Amino acid sequence: MPGIAIIGAQWGDEGKGKITHLLSGLADVVVRYGGGPNAGHTVMHDGHTYKFHQIPSGILYPHVQAIMGNGMVVDPDELWQEMETLRQAGVDFSRLMVSGNIHLIFPYHRLLDRSIEAFSGSQAIGTTGRGIGPAYTDKTARRGLRVQDLLLPEAELAERLDRALRFANTLLEHLLNAPPVSLDEMMERARAWRRWLEPFIGDAFTAVHDALAAGKTVLFEGAQGTLLDLDHGTYPFVTSSHPTTGGLLAGAGVGPHVLSRIIGVVKAFQTRVGSGPMPTEVHGPLAERLRGTGAHPWDEFGTTTGRPRRVGWLDGVALRYSVRLNGITELAITKLDVLSGLETISVAVAYELDGVEVETFPAQIASLERCRPVYEHLPGWDEDIADVRRFEDLPRAAQDYLRFIEELAGVPVSIVSVGPNTDQTILCSDNILA
Ligand code: GDP
Repeated sequence: MPGIAIIGAQWGDEGKGKITHLLSGLADVVVRYGGGPNAGHTVMHDGHTYKFHQIPSGILYPHVQAIMGNGMVVDPDELWQEMETLRQAGVDFSRLMVSGNIHLIFPYHRLLDRSIEAFSGSQAIGTTGRGIGPAYTDKTARRGLRVQDLLLPEAELAERLDRALRFANTLLEHLLNAPPVSLDEMMERARAWRRWLEPFIGDAFTAVHDALAAGKTVLFEGAQGTLLDLDHGTYPFVTSSHPTTGGLLAGAGVGPHVLSRIIGVVKAFQTRVGSGPMPTEVHGPLAERLRGTGAHPWDEFGTTTGRPRRVGWLDGVALRYSVRLNGITELAITKLDVLSGLETISVAVAYELDGVEVETFPAQIASLERCRPVYEHLPGWDEDIADVRRFEDLPRAAQDYLRFIEELAGVPVSIVSVGPNTDQTILCSDNILA
């Protein structure tokens, strides 16, 4: 019963979409286990570019069952939009299942998200404004509504919605200076959602376990990245869920023994969206060089937000932390091609904290803010590597850089991505797609 986990090992945007798509070809089931429409996965398939926010990208393969697992939060309005766009591109949704346990993002969650960010002023977290945080807050506070609640008798649904709304409206009106939201409007919305969503609602838990028991390959598709984990990330500049292996287990409802491989997806350099510490951040011309100009879809501007990403050198300290935290067994390095042409490539191998060199990720965020990277500098390469398909055909310096990352992380690099297309990939071991 092979389960394969795909985990973002940095601050998100590592290129998980491409790696998931590559491996979906061999999967029977692809499960999203956390997050919501704040995720933005870009996949290039058969010459087309597809953007996924809530739907598992494995849906592009006709043989794959795509499951939205219970750890997610879903905005049905955005889901509808996403499905419409994909439908026009010929995608068939008969193999999509939405777990009844997923929490719903209502319009008042979006309103709360934006109003709280505005209220927080300079303390704002830089959320995507899509209501994810408030929906997860309601979930934890036990007043959230789940997808399965849409199937309740009207009166019961109205009662639950009213309870949640009374709380939301008190916050909106009396604290956040925002207009209240009407129950009638929300009920109208819920009825509309039920009409089209009902056929997709299913028992995701049983579907995943039946597939595993039948010996099928199940791919668990991560969203966001490890350093944004609610418990283990750079709190409070984190997401509201757990994009780590721990979150996968809870969000998909499986035990750890089902995971035969835990693939950490790592960009060949570091990026981050929004606020929070980032020890290896660079500015000026080097930042512009790493970020790109926005001319390509893979340039460092958020898929969901369009915001320019903060960029920097690969942070080896954070990478080691991520490997430990997730139990990562191998790495997929993406965007190696972006580094071509740089004379020198730097990697943080330790931090200097108050005059002392540390090799572990500090437990206190205040300490992380004071950390200065201790760099090792490696020679770069000039060659364009976008057409390279074998490790041994990479320039020597690129090979050395990958070996260096392996040493630093303590796990092998099994996949190297040298461009956005699925075939622009180097498989470092023969059995990777077996
Ligand atoms: P995700 O959220 O982790 O899937 O990452 P995004 O989709 O936000 O960002 C990845 C972007 O980089 C997408 O536009 C991909 O098509 C692109 N991409 C993925 N791998 C590579 C690569 O190896 N090289 C280049 N140049 N682009 C890549």
